[in-house]
Amino acid sequence: MASDVTSIQSIAVLGCTGSIGVNTLRVAALHPDRFRIVALSAGSNSALVIEQAKAFRPEVVAVNNPDSAKVVKSALEPLGITVLQGVDGVVRAAEWDGVTLVISAIVGAAGLLPTLAAIRAGKNIGLANKECLVMAGELMMAEVKRHQVTMIPVDSEHSAIFQVFHRQQTPQSLVLTASGGPFRGWKRDALTAVTPAQALAHPNWSMGRKISIDSATMMNKGLEVIEARWLFNMPPERIRVAVHPESIVHSMVTYADGSVLAQMGLPDMRTPIALALSWPERIESGVETVDLPTLGTLTFEPPPERDAFACLWLAFQALEQGGTAPAILNAANEIAVESFLTERIAFLDIPTLIEESLMTVDTIASPSMEQILDADHTARQFAESWVQQR
Ligand code: NAD
Ligand code: MG
Repeated sequence: MASDVTSIQSIAVLGCTGSIGVNTLRVAALHPDRFRIVALSAGSNSALVIEQAKAFRPEVVAVNNPDSAKVVKSALEPLGITVLQGVDGVVRAAEWDGVTLVISAIVGAAGLLPTLAAIRAGKNIGLANKECLVMAGELMMAEVKRHQVTMIPVDSEHSAIFQVFHRQQTPQSLVLTASGGPFRGWKRDALTAVTPAQALAHPNWSMGRKISIDSATMMNKGLEVIEARWLFNMPPERIRVAVHPESIVHSMVTYADGSVLAQMGLPDMRTPIALALSWPERIESGVETVDLPTLGTLTFEPPPERDAFACLWLAFQALEQGGTAPAILNAANEIAVESFLTERIAFLDIPTLIEESLMTVDTIASPSMEQILDADHTARQFAESWVQQR
């Protein structure tokens, strides 16, 4: 029927081999009548992207790593699938003709240029890549406005806020919930010798490695505060954090009449992913509805002190500083997390390195995109040399 044909969404999944990417394809596979996967893009996991492409038959697959791209090319070109490589290839997949919705799920600063390209090509965005808003939130949201595209958050907290945020009711504050990660309640001394394996073991969520470490340091919540500042145009002093270990309430908005509106659900990213795919409708996501009567107690506590979890407060500080400071924070954090995962620095070196980067790398007020990318580059160089001197 014609009406069915017009309602098909043509989707590009950037970061298709990651935790969010894989879950996006799982949700899309539940609704073959509704979603067509037109473009896939991955970093380097050739085996998985080949398997995905054989299952979903996209028009184009882009692989960043040139060696992986060669492998993918020889497997998929005989099937009539275009294979592109490098950053340019990923950007071209993001702009691909006929795509209506781009799920932006590359991890880190590498997500910025493809997401920006998608916006400029007039694609609606389902945004998981929070780092692009941390780096360049003001400029990215200006592009969203200019190109009249819709940006639906995939991050569970922002998806929650998006669902209960009513601009005309003048929201007073946003309250982002945080699980507290694997080290909730730990004191600074206990954190000195934690290993990557301990830090990767998140109590509630199964996620990629980088965001898992960000959750353990609480930088993830700091990045999310900055993400919320731009997504909802909310001044930083009206964004708060509450620790909620059960991860059932995904975030809240408070209003002048004393109301607090929250969204609840099991901690499973398929729920916010499904919403980003189907908004303004709701579809089956494969996630069960949370059963409150059998769930027991939900608890909330204030965020931890700066002493043990400085990353959260460094993010507030960078947001306050403005300009290129959040891009410097993000770049230093990416290097610090990678260096911790490869056991070149200790867990508590992560905030130290970020703080030193913020103090050392010059910040520029009201930067252009080019200046933001420069700040990212300079901060990475500083952070790398800091790690080497360790
Ligand atoms: P992941 O590490 O599991 O996957 C990352 C994806 O990006 C992979 O497909 C990888 O191949 C691709 N990639 C990495 N570097 C690339 C590059 N240079 N060029 C092109 N592609 C590249 O990460 P994830 O956990 O799925 O997270 C993705 C994004 O979503 C992050 O920004 C994260 O903060 C955000 N997010 C994730 C979750 C979660 O539950 N995993 C929740 C909320 C937000
Ligand atoms: Mg989140």
